[in-house]
Amino acid sequence: MKIVEFDGRGQKIETDSRSVGAARSSHLAPPPTLSVGRGLGRGVRSDVQLYMFQTGTLRTKTKYIKMNQGEDDFEIPVPWYLIKHPKGNVVIDGGNAVEVALDKRGHWGAAVDAYDPVMDARDNCVDQCRSVGVRPEDVRYVVQSHLHLDHTGAIGRFPRAEHIVQRMEYEYAFNPDWFAAAGYIRADFDRPNLNWKFLGGEYTDNFDLFGDGVIRMIFTPGHSPGHQSFLVTLPNSGPILLAVDAVYTLDHWNDKALPGFVCSAVDAVHSVAKLHKIAADANALVVPGHDPDLWRTFRKAPSAFYD
Ligand SMILES: [Zn+2]
Repeated sequence: MKIVEFDGRGQKIETDSRSVGAARSSHLAPPPTLSVGRGLGRGVRSDVQLYMFQTGTLRTKTKYIKMNQGEDDFEIPVPWYLIKHPKGNVVIDGGNAVEVALDKRGHWGAAVDAYDPVMDARDNCVDQCRSVGVRPEDVRYVVQSHLHLDHTGAIGRFPRAEHIVQRMEYEYAFNPDWFAAAGYIRADFDRPNLNWKFLGGEYTDNFDLFGDGVIRMIFTPGHSPGHQSFLVTLPNSGPILLAVDAVYTLDHWNDKALPGFVCSAVDAVHSVAKLHKIAADANALVVPGHDPDLWRTFRKAPSAFYD
C-alpha cells in the first residue's frame, strides 16, 4: 500500500506501507529503563534538560475546565516546555502568543470572555528561552501538542525551526466546527514561510524525535482532533509524561471530570486510559495541562529544571 503525504511546501512524499512500518519500528525506542533517581547519579548534570515555563494564567470558570462542574472562578496556568538536547533545542507549544499581552481582545476576540489571559509581554516564549541562554535561531524544533490559542505562541517565532504537528489537527484548525472555532486563532498558525512536518495519527504513534527515546510523541485525540502528548525520558529525573490537554487536571486523570472543551468525549476518555498505561509502564511523573495545584509542585524555569 502506498501512503501519500504532503510536506509543508506541498511536495508529495510517497512511502510504501512496509517501509513506514520499518520506519516506525526504528522510531520505537525501547521502553524507558530509567526511573526517577537512577541514571547518572547525584551531582552529575546530564546534557538533556527539561524546562517548565508558563505564559501567565487564564482566569476562567470551573465548568470550562471540568465539564458541567459549576460557575466558580478558576484560574489555570498556561504551561509550555523547552528541552535542551545535544541534537538541538525543542520548544513544546510556547503558551500564548505575545500579542495576547498587548491586546488580548484584539488577538483572541470573544474567547477572552471565557478564558481571560493574565500575561505580561515579558512572558512570551522567545524572551523566556533567552532567559536560559537559548537564542531564537538556536531552536531546532517547535512541537505542537495541538493548535488551541493558549498553545500557539511559538509558531513562526524561531526562524530555523521545523514545526511538528499532527496533520489532523492542522487541517481542523483551518476549518473547525462552530463550537471549537473560538479556540483557534488563525493568525497564530497561518503564517508565511513556516517549515511544517506532519504526523499521521496512529500511523506515526510513538514518534521518537531524536531516535534516542528522549522525546516521544503519543497520539491522544479527544480534547482536539489531533492532540498529542509527550513522554520525555531524562537521564537523572527519569520519565516525565507531558500530557498537555489530554489531561487538563487531576480530576480528568482520575476519570472524575471531562475537559470543559472537548471534540470527542469518547476519544478523550480513551486517551486518558492510554496515558494511564504508558505512565504505569514507564513509572512516569505525570504533568497535566492546566492543573493549578499540581503545577505549583513542579520545578519551574528559569531557576530550576529537570535533567
Ligand atoms: Zn486545548
